Amino acid sequence: MKPSLLGITKEELAAHLAEHGHPAYRADQILDWVWKKRPASIDAMSNLPKALRAYLEENFSLYPLTPARELGSTDTTRKMLYKLHDGRYIESVLIPANPALYGGRADRLTLCVSSQVGCAYGCKFCASGLAGFTRNLTAAEIAAQVLQTEMLAGDRIDNLVFMGMGEPLANSKNLLQAIELITSPWGLNLGARHLTISTSGLVPQIRELARHPRQIRLAISLHGATDAVRDQIMPVNKKYPTSQLFEALHDWNAQKKQHLTLEYILIQGINDDLEQARILATHARSFQAKVNLIPYNTVEGLPWKRPEISHCQAFRNILTKAGVTATLRLEKGHDIEAACGQLRLIKETEEGIGGNAEMLKS
Ligand code: SF4
Repeated sequence: MKPSLLGITKEELAAHLAEHGHPAYRADQILDWVWKKRPASIDAMSNLPKALRAYLEENFSLYPLTPARELGSTDTTRKMLYKLHDGRYIESVLIPANPALYGGRADRLTLCVSSQVGCAYGCKFCASGLAGFTRNLTAAEIAAQVLQTEMLAGDRIDNLVFMGMGEPLANSKNLLQAIELITSPWGLNLGARHLTISTSGLVPQIRELARHPRQIRLAISLHGATDAVRDQIMPVNKKYPTSQLFEALHDWNAQKKQHLTLEYILIQGINDDLEQARILATHARSFQAKVNLIPYNTVEGLPWKRPEISHCQAFRNILTKAGVTATLRLEKGHDIEAACGQLRLIKETEEGIGGNAEMLKS
């Protein structure tokens, strides 16, 4: 499999060209084609010498994703299904008018990006963990979700949330390379503050990310304020219990001086006890985190239920009365189940994607 030009930084490309007898300055032209002009093929990069185009075609591929299907939603959320070179599928979810959850304006586009095929972390309520882990996405496959979705949508994407399929921080090397491609002026040139990484709580990687020079935002899939509750639904808590996680979040605060977001899916009878809200409020205040409450979205094959809306409101009121900014989120895309933790691999027979394809669908 040839590496994609979408996975390589300017410095790496310049060094590669110099090493193979081509002028290093051609890297600027090549990346201008790749990220800005977006040609149909390497051969269409018309201001490059023929010999260089031939060399690139022999040694690199261009777009690593093949668009397979697009699914619209009544509220205009769109799911993009992409086929990978090994026949696997991933999804990216395009969400217009992100309701100011991550600093977006009402007229902006947010893309929910996948970082792995499947997920090894097995959170009990999460569709992505159901089928287990297959593989990490490459940096090119991560960054290409943004570029190729912009090409399909014919519009600029303003915000990224790494909360599609997979645990992004379990693939942090490729994720950080993708972030370099996405945020660099020669790449997609998207400000790091418009990127939010959502993690289930991998403590060493959170500490590492706190020292990363870019001002990336962090969201924690918390879903329980105590070990007793988190242990029931998130196996990762056995490895990194709340004491370690909260310490890492204080460290994040100290390093980044930037607000955190805590995601909390409300599941009836599991984590929606109002005492959890009181404990959550204490922690959220201590590291000035904002809380997003998400009433659980039903997942076929899983037994969990969504609490009554009035109960969700009572949960939120405890937080707001304690001075915590808390939103009760009625998720976009629920009708196509594109909300967080709702992406998963299933077997589906369908014409148009090759029949019996293993594909992503919620
Ligand atoms: S919530 Fe995140 S970490 Fe947990 S199984 Fe789902 S994708 Fe993996």
